[in-house]
Amino acid sequence: MTTPPPAIPVATLGTPRIGPRRELKAALESYWAGKTGDAELLDISAALRAANWARQKARGVTVIPSNDFSLYDQVLDTSVMVGAIPEVYGWRGGKVPLSVHFAMARGADGAASEASCGHSHHGDGSAGQGAPAQEMTKWFDTNYHYMVPEFAPNQTFQLASLKAVDEYREAKALGYETRPVLLGPVTFLKLGKSKEAGFDPLSLLGNILPVYVDVLRRLSANGAEWVQIDEPCLVLDLDNAARDALRRAYASIAHALPKLKIMLATYFGALGDNLDATLSLPVAGLHVDLVRAPEQLEAVVEKARPGLVLSLGAIDGRNIWRANLSALAERLKAVVARRGTDHVQLAPSCSLLHVPVDLDQETDLDPDLKSWLAFSLQKMDELAVLSAALSGDSARVKDALDASAAAAEARRTSPKVHNAAVAARTGAVTAAMARRTSPFSTRAELQHKRFGLPAFPTTTIGSFPQTAEVRQARSAHAKGALSDDAYTQFLREETARAVRWQEDIGLDVLVHGEFERNDMVQYFGEQLSGFAFTKHGWVQSYGSRYVRPPILFGDVARPAPMTVEWWRYAQSLTQKPLKGMLTGPVTILNWSFVRDDLPRSAACRQIALAIRDEVEDLEQAGAAMIQIDEAALREGLPLRRSQWGEYLRWAVECFRLCSSGVGDQTQIHTHMCYSEFNDIIDAIGAMDADVISIETSRSKMELLDAFRSYKYPNEIGPGVYDIHSPRVPAVSEMTDLLSRARQRLDDSQIWINPDCGLKTRKWEEVKPALVNMVAAARAIRSAT
Ligand code: GLN
Ligand code: ZN
Repeated sequence: MTTPPPAIPVATLGTPRIGPRRELKAALESYWAGKTGDAELLDISAALRAANWARQKARGVTVIPSNDFSLYDQVLDTSVMVGAIPEVYGWRGGKVPLSVHFAMARGADGAASEASCGHSHHGDGSAGQGAPAQEMTKWFDTNYHYMVPEFAPNQTFQLASLKAVDEYREAKALGYETRPVLLGPVTFLKLGKSKEAGFDPLSLLGNILPVYVDVLRRLSANGAEWVQIDEPCLVLDLDNAARDALRRAYASIAHALPKLKIMLATYFGALGDNLDATLSLPVAGLHVDLVRAPEQLEAVVEKARPGLVLSLGAIDGRNIWRANLSALAERLKAVVARRGTDHVQLAPSCSLLHVPVDLDQETDLDPDLKSWLAFSLQKMDELAVLSAALSGDSARVKDALDASAAAAEARRTSPKVHNAAVAARTGAVTAAMARRTSPFSTRAELQHKRFGLPAFPTTTIGSFPQTAEVRQARSAHAKGALSDDAYTQFLREETARAVRWQEDIGLDVLVHGEFERNDMVQYFGEQLSGFAFTKHGWVQSYGSRYVRPPILFGDVARPAPMTVEWWRYAQSLTQKPLKGMLTGPVTILNWSFVRDDLPRSAACRQIALAIRDEVEDLEQAGAAMIQIDEAALREGLPLRRSQWGEYLRWAVECFRLCSSGVGDQTQIHTHMCYSEFNDIIDAIGAMDADVISIETSRSKMELLDAFRSYKYPNEIGPGVYDIHSPRVPAVSEMTDLLSRARQRLDDSQIWINPDCGLKTRKWEEVKPALVNMVAAARAIRSAT
């Protein structure tokens, strides 16, 4: 008998920190509410870490991470580690208290982030008196948001938190030898910003490296043999200065700590043109993403120097699908043979932070669908099986391999996934279907005649406050405590009140208020075939905010109208035009877990056709204005510039496909809540919406420059009311913003509206703000 060679190590790179039952959220919110103190919060966190380490060990993970836990955000933790704590937070050296940490996260009075715009979350910087929260932005192309580090020229750093060392020691005391995780210095600097224009954060590399070296030295002194350093910036377009910074950083780490082994982790894409630079870095291991970029395997294996340990990111860390392990083993066999089992590790493509914790908690999912899924714990099982299969121990895991292959085959052929009618329909899409009948100028003339609106028409973006009563009624209805009839009656009253109020204050174009919607994507996903929803599938979006993304598992169709009845009811209450309100296909796609057996563009086209049906039904029912929100169009942009064109082509085509089935007299609106249009203005133009509303109040209308230089011809509603803040803007502030808009646009193009929907605001804020907005419109009209 020969004993099998030692099994290939299995790593996770990082795990969800929220707890299987969202324990961390409860602990944080109780702490912030002042109901519990530091000790409880820290105890619960330690218990979560311990449970996390135990689960990984039990599932066969052999390279267990530490310091992947965070109370709020790992980028914030890194800012704290290096003492990048702006003065406003009042830290004067020494141990950083939790109050400072959370002031950076949420603002000194803790009011931050209460207002969020759909899924795209913004710090509520202007709330309250104290220091505002740090800015928050998307972590690469995920829906995780990090706190943006703040730097100043010539800034110095100092070791201000030993979290990484403490958590390593904590694990060790519990009997786990872990591989600590740090966010790498180059990615960290590149993610930061400075008030100083033209400032290059990489100029601080020399100042920050000693702190990193200090931390690494302490980790090593405490027994850490390996440290994982994440440099996801390696999958971005980098210039030579950035590549040079990487060279300098890792050379100085290697020089200071020649014995410490660094696993350099890259993820979310291909190394591409950074491959050679990466492979020349003096590190002991390299993790590569083989799910987003399977094609890079050969080049990496070919070019990596023989002693380099390759961590193969083979299991999808960004999506919830179960892998086909036999097929994967087949594919990786040659790599293992070539590099040797001791120079290979198996891992998810990236940290498991981006998937829900445990599929076993989903007791209500369709059993077939469930058998095709894997959440973080199931992915660990998969890695363990893969390791056995590739370590010459496949007999032991034969059942698991067979089950995985059978699930893949069942999914491939399931009628729950494949709908011939949908395939036939997407196959029959013509170019003409994505074109309005007439050009904008013709449509605009017909629409102006039809509506007879005043100059500078006023409207809102769709939602009105989701009050405690609205949320209570929804949850009572979901629990069965409120009957369908009673719930509908309640929603009708809310809607009627909102319509009446909009009429009273003199808005020109009304909305129904979206009281019936839990979420702008979920509401549609629940009514479309091909989508499923979990009970506990939470994923951290930022801080204590988690989302449960819909699972797009099959061909999408719309069995019945989704919004027509609510629109019809609301419109019946008023003579003024009331917009039909829909979420666009690109946004539905970008905020869901999507199929991996179909290109994103194809899945998006299916959703576009379903939304097109809804648009046509709304028009049939009499809706003269239909708004299709594409809040997430920009955030779907690929990480590499070279791929933008292709994405924008199909994204725009999908928007046009869903919006072009209507007549010239029907006015199509769209809404996008961002403030960056320069680099996508061609695509915005190509969408050809009759009216677009955007977020502009904070940028003082400067982003309209992009529209002006493009000579954007259609109508635009630049937001004049910053809905991320509870503050009520004065009439003069709004007229001021409008005169700035008028310097950049033609008067005939301009609509007046808030930056985004109002669902996160209170009526007490919304009412005076919109009254002022209408007054601002009147002031401008009478002055022209
Ligand atoms: N119509 C949506 C609302 O008002 C739009 C939200 C968004 O763009 N995030 O809530
Ligand atoms: Zn918005």
